[in-house]
Amino acid sequence: MQRYFLNIYIGIKTILIGMFITLKHMFTKSVTVQYPHKKLDIPERCRNLLLNKIEDCIGCYQCARACPVYCITMETIKAFEGENLGLTSDGSKKRLWIPVFDIDMAKCCYCGLCTYPCPTKCLIMTDKYEYSTYKRDNLIFHFTNVDAVKAAELREKDHIRKMEKEK
Ligand code: SF4
Ligand code: SF4
Repeated sequence: MQRYFLNIYIGIKTILIGMFITLKHMFTKSVTVQYPHKKLDIPERCRNLLLNKIEDCIGCYQCARACPVYCITMETIKAFEGENLGLTSDGSKKRLWIPVFDIDMAKCCYCGLCTYPCPTKCLIMTDKYEYSTYKRDNLIFHFTNVDAVKAAELREKDHIRKMEKEK
């Protein structure tokens, strides 16, 4: 009989302890947010999606060489005689066409090593971290200021130039 009442006492006590803990948390400030409706501020130096401000890129390949996983693919073509490709915003002279500047974000490990050697600071880590897609190809980011027709024309001219040089 004594055991019977002891079990009832223990049962009620544990329920009250549980309810007290629950009640206490109802008045504690939440540490989570209702993502994606609310977002936390991201740290200033966090590493997210890459962006190449291609108008400032001089095609030096330093970023591609620094990349440990080879996810930057580039193609450059030397400007032709009489062509002026202009200057970057820091005053560097642009001497190369850049028909291909691709970053495969599916391979990227977000190490940031490509951004440090960039002489014109055009390759940057943005504050964007959300990017989901059903197609893997969509994770290849293309940065070029030359359209496909112009790129084909440049390759053709470059090929002729090389042939003439070999003569
Ligand atoms: S962040 Fe790292 S892995 Fe990604 S492109 Fe730059 S160097 Fe390559
Ligand atoms: S290091 Fe900078 S300037 Fe050089 S190719 Fe890469 S993005 Fe362009």
